[in-house]
Amino acid sequence: MQKPVMVTRATLPPFEEYTEMLKPIWESAWLTNMGQFHEELKEKLKERMKVKGLELFVNGHMALELAIQAFGLKGEVITTPFTFASTAHAIVRNGLEPVFCDIRPDDYTLDETKIEERITDRTCAILPVHVYGNICQVEKIQEIADRHGLKVIYDAAHAFGEEKDGIGVGNFGDASMFSFHATKVFNTIEGGAVAFRETWLEDRLYKLKNFGIMGEESVEYVGGNGKMNEFQAAMGLCNLRHLDENISKRERIVKRYRERLGGKEGIRLGTVDPAVSYNYAYMPVVLDGFRMERDQLYAFLKEHGIHPRKYFYPCVNAYECYQDRYDPDETPVARDISKGVMTLPLYPDLPLETVDYICDLILGTAGQAASVEENTLER
Ligand SMILES: *Cc1c(COP(=O)(O)O)cnc(C)c1O
Repeated sequence: MQKPVMVTRATLPPFEEYTEMLKPIWESAWLTNMGQFHEELKEKLKERMKVKGLELFVNGHMALELAIQAFGLKGEVITTPFTFASTAHAIVRNGLEPVFCDIRPDDYTLDETKIEERITDRTCAILPVHVYGNICQVEKIQEIADRHGLKVIYDAAHAFGEEKDGIGVGNFGDASMFSFHATKVFNTIEGGAVAFRETWLEDRLYKLKNFGIMGEESVEYVGGNGKMNEFQAAMGLCNLRHLDENISKRERIVKRYRERLGGKEGIRLGTVDPAVSYNYAYMPVVLDGFRMERDQLYAFLKEHGIHPRKYFYPCVNAYECYQDRYDPDETPVARDISKGVMTLPLYPDLPLETVDYICDLILGTAGQAASVEENTLER
């Protein structure tokens, strides 16, 4: 293998397809602030995602921060420690307190059976993550939220374009944040969106992303600047045309990984829900009793030019910035999975031969280390 194989590679449209889109931007000199492409992308995405309401944002994190702000919450928010930094940071940066709840061992989403024991009289919301595109136990989470009068805001950064039983994933809960970062399944360079059902949120989110400005002479909220610009929207419109093709290319790669690695000793691939149409965003493997430690295999693959990532290690409740407040041992399932997890390279143009090479490396090490296992059996 010559060139290093990274965990992902940004999906780009044909060069001319994008440059063609720049002409109207130059002609109108309308670069940002809800221009023509912004509006067009918003409509196209609503249709594609089968959602009633949608606002676009400059990035996913800003979308999440402002979505949380839109509900005017106070107190504690129950969330998962098995996620990207953004999830908990968005809660804290809104003056709220994250309360970490453990995850399910089979799909790594929030364990709905452990939510209620975390609820106090200060709890105001639940913020689950559809991690790796695995859709949470949405019905059960909604039941709990309804029983306790809580809001449900999903971090759906990994779940763009997915459906469960034909329902667009953005329809669950009170709001869902999507990320269109360069490394995600669908990108607008940087970008994000919030999907929602209640119409009042449209006006609220629109203002919050534009400094809370209501009119030329009135400012209603302490908003931020979260606007998606025309260059981002143009990239989104181009990438959207190739999305289905890219998802099916991803699907083929994931199927190959699963064929090769499924059922192998010490490798867990996570469950697949037949009701979900996946976007095949990530290829996580969890090593559990594998012949090599995760970090050993990680280093071994790197030596061979393969660069997986340890998504998500460490857990958020083990971060330096949260260390004094939380104990990762309170969420043992998340702690253990994060110690064994690794996401393998996956992007539409990753050749199947490279997938086979990666699998050979992983399984080859299994052969090498067989004697280690025999020794352990004797003890
Ligand atoms: C990517 C990501 C975000 C943040 O999105 P950006 O668009 O990068 O700001 C939030 N949560 C999760 C789980 C993510 O993977």
